[in-house]
Amino acid sequence: MGSKPIFVTSPSLPELDDFIPYLRKIWENKWLTNNGEFHQQFEKALAEYLGVRYVSLFTNGMIALQVGLQALHITGEVITTPFTFVATTHAIYWNNCRPVFCDIEPETYTMDPDKVEALITPQTTALMPVHVYGNPCNNEKLQKIADTYGLKLFYDAAHVFGVKKDGVSVCNWGNLSMLSFHATKVFNTFEGGALVTNDENMKKRIDFLKNFGFADEVTVVAPGSNGKMDEFRSAYGLLQLKTVDLEIAKRQKVAQYYRETLKDVSGITMLYDIPGVRHNYAYFPIRIDAAKYGMTRDELYNKLKANNIMSRRYFYPLCSDFPTYRGLPSAKPANLPVATRVAQEILCLPMFADLTTEDEAKIGSIIHG
Ligand SMILES: *Cc1c(COP(=O)(O)O)cnc(C)c1O
Repeated sequence: MGSKPIFVTSPSLPELDDFIPYLRKIWENKWLTNNGEFHQQFEKALAEYLGVRYVSLFTNGMIALQVGLQALHITGEVITTPFTFVATTHAIYWNNCRPVFCDIEPETYTMDPDKVEALITPQTTALMPVHVYGNPCNNEKLQKIADTYGLKLFYDAAHVFGVKKDGVSVCNWGNLSMLSFHATKVFNTFEGGALVTNDENMKKRIDFLKNFGFADEVTVVAPGSNGKMDEFRSAYGLLQLKTVDLEIAKRQKVAQYYRETLKDVSGITMLYDIPGVRHNYAYFPIRIDAAKYGMTRDELYNKLKANNIMSRRYFYPLCSDFPTYRGLPSAKPANLPVATRVAQEILCLPMFADLTTEDEAKIGSIIHG
């Protein structure tokens, strides 16, 4: 085939020369981690960019999820979505809680609030929805349920960096939100993550817990973890913040191209911008109706692969289908009809800032058949 593979994503990096002065400063300071100068600057700059009160940086999103659950004292059962990356479910499991899977909405693929109440038991303590692909959840309804039943609301916000609804960052919703800065995300620090809260005491508690529980030199308030982000990645993140709006604008162009070129393909459905939402174009999922399109999702996936185009079947299989979770009563496909169907039909096309128009055209023409 000869051509270079087109991956589903490709990270944007700053100019290396622009990073050197930051490195020089770190070498001079010899302060490598534990809330150094760049760490403090990055937390402030992020809170400002996102439009939130407090940010606590983490070494990755998974540990942020685990520490967030601990900070909120979550126990028992947590109602969550099966249509997500495994980290969401694993974090619940690692905190000795039981995930309870709720079906998703057919339009946005986020947790269906109308199906939540039927899953609540005396053991339920929290809801953990995911703004999947950058689509904001129905926060109004979810918050109302949380308030009515006295539950915590902890958002897996790994996909919504920079996403706003009616001008407000969706990271302001609920008790806590978790962000991921993994290499594959819209905003990356190689690995990295954060918890976002508007509660000053919660921010303090999180900062103890991500540093082994140390409140000061001799006081350990809880069995915390080690979730700290270092100075290297904090400095890199500061630099990345300068170009993230350009990154999102470039992704928007890619989305516009796909939407235009695929709009008349029978059997292919796409997600569109939601009025009032500032999207970040983190992913470009399409759904394939095999009867209408004339090919199954897996057939199209393989056809693209044969042409050196690496699409991904996010999120297939559902988390509820993995061996650890499939025995749970809520994991039965009959409980999750929409998620089960979407997982069979979904395909994420290559989406990144530097995808060339040539490559876009190639992908478009293969899907057109
Ligand atoms: C990427 C991701 C995570 C985990 O983030 P890491 O930083 O890779 O640990 C959690 N949830 C979702 C939905 C994700 O996509």
